[in-house]
Amino acid sequence: MHSIVLKPGKEKSLLRRHPWVFSGAIAKVEGEPAAGDTVRIVGSDGSFLAQAAFSPTSQIRARIWTFDAATRIDNSFFTTRIEAAIKRRPAATARGGMRLIHGESDGLPGLIVDRYADVLVVQFLSTGTEQWRDAIADALLAGTGLADLYERSDTDVRELEGLPPRAGPLRGAPAAQVIIEEHGIRLAVDIAHGHKTGFYLDQSENRRRVRELAALQPGISALNCFCYTGGFSLNLLAGGAAHVLSIDSSGPALDIARRNIAANNLDPSRCEWLEADVFAALRELRDSGRRFNLIILDPPKFAPTPASVERAARAYKDINLLGFKLLEPGGRLVTFSCSGGVNADLFQKIVAGAAFDAGVDALIEKRLCGASDHPVRLAFPEGEYLKGLVLRRLPTT
Ligand code: SAH
Repeated sequence: MHSIVLKPGKEKSLLRRHPWVFSGAIAKVEGEPAAGDTVRIVGSDGSFLAQAAFSPTSQIRARIWTFDAATRIDNSFFTTRIEAAIKRRPAATARGGMRLIHGESDGLPGLIVDRYADVLVVQFLSTGTEQWRDAIADALLAGTGLADLYERSDTDVRELEGLPPRAGPLRGAPAAQVIIEEHGIRLAVDIAHGHKTGFYLDQSENRRRVRELAALQPGISALNCFCYTGGFSLNLLAGGAAHVLSIDSSGPALDIARRNIAANNLDPSRCEWLEADVFAALRELRDSGRRFNLIILDPPKFAPTPASVERAARAYKDINLLGFKLLEPGGRLVTFSCSGGVNADLFQKIVAGAAFDAGVDALIEKRLCGASDHPVRLAFPEGEYLKGLVLRRLPTT
């Protein structure tokens, strides 16, 4: 097996079981490993540290499979890891949606697998998972007892690994569109064309919470910004909101959202859909004097890289400031960030700055995070990307 020898002092993070080796930590590569090959990681004194998948073009030069020297990285390794991850989750329901494999947190760096009813959707995001694609596909079917697997490896992060985008059916004959049921609400998931693997399962528990918040103040007027296929909108209506204005820039997502309203026998006259840029739409709403009792801000990742954090901070501040201005006293702002580069502390500071500039005082009623099928490994805090705040606007004193 090929080896990667670390520079002196660079063993520390691996000894703490962090699953990445950055290019800057490497003294030399022994042998000529190809992309995706299993390599031994050794310290500067030659002692064994881990077995990892080699990624010659990425800054993350190797991703750890195991810290054990004796474990063989072969088909059965993937079967075992995949079975363990599935076993950690609650039993699947026939129509449910669930993340089954959450990358590094499940000991499978670069592998994402979501289940939508009886269809699995997979993303191979690293050279290592790409190398073991067939073994992983077989293990997923064996582990779930399902037949249909769709691949959505058509995401930008593959470029960093030197991998081309790829999407399409991988096993069986997966339907391109599936209906799932989440907290009793029917949701259409466009597996072939939707964002990520088709849907934002990470917000599942927060959608239920938003429904509970709506139920606390029956008959409210709500605003759902970055609504995608209407997940929060449906829950606001189910919770008793009288009116929900939902905004997204994606026409196809809004089409699905409208169909979701019909599929759940909710009253379309209580919904207003706006295909627009949220930044501009919020300004227009402010200028026209509209006000809301509950506002959701669930924007896309504004800071995909550490370098973009400052720009992202300005964007978060902008929408949150406008959100506070549109909020009735006593109303709630439910605001999220899914940027890994913006941690919970920084996000709270940005939101506090936005409230101050809006001349609003507010209480943090609750801190929110990703759903429990998106667990965060203690040794891999980078896995924690989704954070949110439930804020209650205080009456002006
Ligand atoms: N809340 C959704 C997920 C939101 S994902 C859910 O629970 O399913 C972010 C959404 O923001 C995407 O649907 C994307 O189309 C939309 N979006 C991105 N930039 C936007 C912009 N500037 N204005 C409006 N929508 C935008």
